[in-house]
Amino acid sequence: MSAHLTRHCIAIDIGGTSAKLAIVSEEGNILHKTSIATPKAKSARPIVDSFVQATRQLRTIARDGRIALEGIGIGHPGFYDQEGRLRDLCNIPALNGVNLAICFQEEFRTRVVCDTDVSCGTLGEFHYGGHGDVRRFLFLTLGTGVGIGAVIDGKLARTTRNCLGDPGHIVIDPSGSPCTCGGKGCLEAVASGWAITRVAEQLVNSGKHTELTKAYASKGWISPEDVFAAASRDDEIAKEIVTGVAKWLAMGLASLCVILEPEVIGLGGGIAAGAGDQLLKPVHDIFFGIVSPPFARGLKIVSARVRADAGLLGAAALVFFPKN
Ligand SMILES: [Zn+2]
Repeated sequence: MSAHLTRHCIAIDIGGTSAKLAIVSEEGNILHKTSIATPKAKSARPIVDSFVQATRQLRTIARDGRIALEGIGIGHPGFYDQEGRLRDLCNIPALNGVNLAICFQEEFRTRVVCDTDVSCGTLGEFHYGGHGDVRRFLFLTLGTGVGIGAVIDGKLARTTRNCLGDPGHIVIDPSGSPCTCGGKGCLEAVASGWAITRVAEQLVNSGKHTELTKAYASKGWISPEDVFAAASRDDEIAKEIVTGVAKWLAMGLASLCVILEPEVIGLGGGIAAGAGDQLLKPVHDIFFGIVSPPFARGLKIVSARVRADAGLLGAAALVFFPKN
């Protein structure tokens, strides 16, 4: 099939520091990809303008290549209200209250579909992860924070806030640490990238014998990657942290299973992708040791197969599979 007979759209994955944009085919092929810095502006206009400008350039490339575009799909941080206005964007607060779909429709006169980055990541992995004929899919993305989305009967589960709410903040340890959300002992407060850093630094500061002391002394902080690398070299303290993270994630997933009963759980996000089996295996083993068996029959836990581009592909899926 020649390029111009395949369906294409422009996908945009907006993040706090940068935005990725691409021309994407319905099969999930990324034809042209670009990235721009998200402007650190106090008002929305210059930020939206920079996204629009980068989108115009992609549209020109598509026209030159005789690629017909069906629309624009946009993934963004935070949530949105019933009118489509963005809310709770901690990293880009100037965009709160903005209706991105209307801004882009006015500019490009085409169909524009927006959704949260967590929902887009979930859709990207669901549609393009090669999971086969799966109807119920749970996706956990482990990065700086913890994002969780679900597809039920082929559609995004939208229980509240137009998505699955924010299950990264289910309370998992009542005696746990304070969370950025104001709660205490949330999954994100014990098992996210920032939580791994905090726990590792606390252990180093308490005088534990660990090679992480060196990373802390040389860089001034300990990254989650430092912890997984030290654990792979049999550092006992680092292994303890990894086991703890796996335990909390397994508890969170096991709890969600009795509500959502997924057939497949995908573990994605930068930290999970970097850790691979080092995290997947203990999460898997602990999960199946505690989950309510009737809700986990035939269930598989797998590493996300769509890696860095899950958000972009999910934004494209908003256009290609409009009944999400
Ligand atoms: Zn929280």
